[in-house]
Amino acid sequence: MMILRANNNERSIFCITKFVSIAFNFLGGGDIHRKESMQDKHIGILGAGIVGLSTALYLQKAGYKVTIIDRQAPGMGASFGNAGLFADYARLPFAKFSMMRKIPKMLTDKSGSLSIQGRYLPHLMSYGYEFSKACFNNKYTQGKAAMRYLQELSVEADHELLELAGAQSLVRSEGCLGLFSTPESFLKAQKSDLKERREQGVNMHFISADEAQEMEPDLARFHSGGVFYPDTRFTVSPIALSRQYVNHFINNGGCIQQDEVIALSPRESDVSVHLNDSSVNFDEIVICTGLASKTILSRLGVNIPMVSERGYHLGLNVGPKKLSRPVGWLDKAIFMTPMEESIRLAGMAEFAFEDAPIVESRLDTLLQYANVMMGEEVQVNSTWVGSRPSTPDSLPIVGPLKHYPRIKVAFGHGHLGLTFGAITGKLITSCIQNSENTDNLQPFMAERFD
Ligand SMILES: Cc1cc2nc3c(=O)[nH]c(=O)nc-3n(C[C@H](O)[C@H](O)[C@H](O)COP(=O)(O)OP(=O)(O)OC[C@H]3O[C@@H](n4cnc5c(N)ncnc54)[C@H](O)[C@@H]3O)c2cc1C
Repeated sequence: MMILRANNNERSIFCITKFVSIAFNFLGGGDIHRKESMQDKHIGILGAGIVGLSTALYLQKAGYKVTIIDRQAPGMGASFGNAGLFADYARLPFAKFSMMRKIPKMLTDKSGSLSIQGRYLPHLMSYGYEFSKACFNNKYTQGKAAMRYLQELSVEADHELLELAGAQSLVRSEGCLGLFSTPESFLKAQKSDLKERREQGVNMHFISADEAQEMEPDLARFHSGGVFYPDTRFTVSPIALSRQYVNHFINNGGCIQQDEVIALSPRESDVSVHLNDSSVNFDEIVICTGLASKTILSRLGVNIPMVSERGYHLGLNVGPKKLSRPVGWLDKAIFMTPMEESIRLAGMAEFAFEDAPIVESRLDTLLQYANVMMGEEVQVNSTWVGSRPSTPDSLPIVGPLKHYPRIKVAFGHGHLGLTFGAITGKLITSCIQNSENTDNLQPFMAERFD
């Protein structure tokens, strides 16, 4: 519940918090004075995507007073349309020289997954420069270590949040399949990416085409077998997950304000967040506005080489056919996930303005792939396009801003915002609790691109 009080240009927000839960915290032992000051501290979370919501829940759990600000309903940004995978296998940055060499050919393939909108090209300059720097061996190795670090902490963080919010039923643990079109492409992957993933600690089993068919009998035989990742989990509804997190947040005294963040004024003792026609002050803020974080930060003179990497999805009606788990067609870089309302086919990497019109031919390509995977013409129930907030080194941007310590950042999760949402919230919370010790966040700092 929320009460708004207007005072000249300033609008203060007071939340009716659950005094029972405060009392409970006090009675829980430990350092009472530390907890009192924590509860006095008001943290503003900008952005209610999966990253902002996860961060809000962790901060609330730690005893802070938390307000979220978003210009639209929670969970309706990139977090709405993803493939739903908690992708434990994703431990390799995209930037490497072997990938660079493939890019020209990928761009000329009209039905391929990679494309660039002509008008967006100038906006890719600093990203491209940093991408090429990230290809060098030492950077690539550091990137792998950083991804592994996040992955190894992620599962526990996810479980904590799912349990806290009572959202366990929205996540399934059936593993996932990654299939290849031909024996040659499968073999090539076994000698390169799959080998590297295994060295990165990913649990995987290679399976034949027959074994894949046994696991997913309703799939067509479009493949030559592939890999089974038993530890991959998926959500049957990314939006229901966000909404469950919102419910928990509100029920525990959190406030959500719908407004647009225009600019920030950081001061020594607090931060002013300027909205459409008002301002709100917080002791600290966390910027979780996904792609838009780049514009918000540029107004403070902080430049981040993050870009809009759009992805598409189709909601499919496949009749009585069923899938038990997500299935990737890895040569095409797409994933088909069984969700609550329909089967979702997601993919494409289109570097384009966030608000550029939908490119119909990408939807057509996805539909063709869907038909091949299901072995029949499937019906499309819904279509969606959204922007991944992508960084050149595939690592999110997480931690305090060097010159504005009251501003923490948590964005740039690219292909892995759902996978790394919970651990990001946990890391930001410990960074706010113990601002002296942020060594573990060095690989994710915003200033790494300076
Ligand atoms: C096709 C596709 C498939 C994907 N599949 C997966 C997957 O399987 N697994 C995975 O881990 N990841 C996946 N991702 C990536 C994942 O969806 C994103 O990384 C993640 O959603 C980013 O979350 P976020 O909270 O940072 O951003 P968002 O969800 O975009 O949230 C940002 C929020 O900030 C708000 N906002 C922005 N600007 C302002 C402003 N000025 N004022 C107020 N509010 C503002 C927005 O309204 C929005 O609600 C996929 C992405 C796509 C596109």
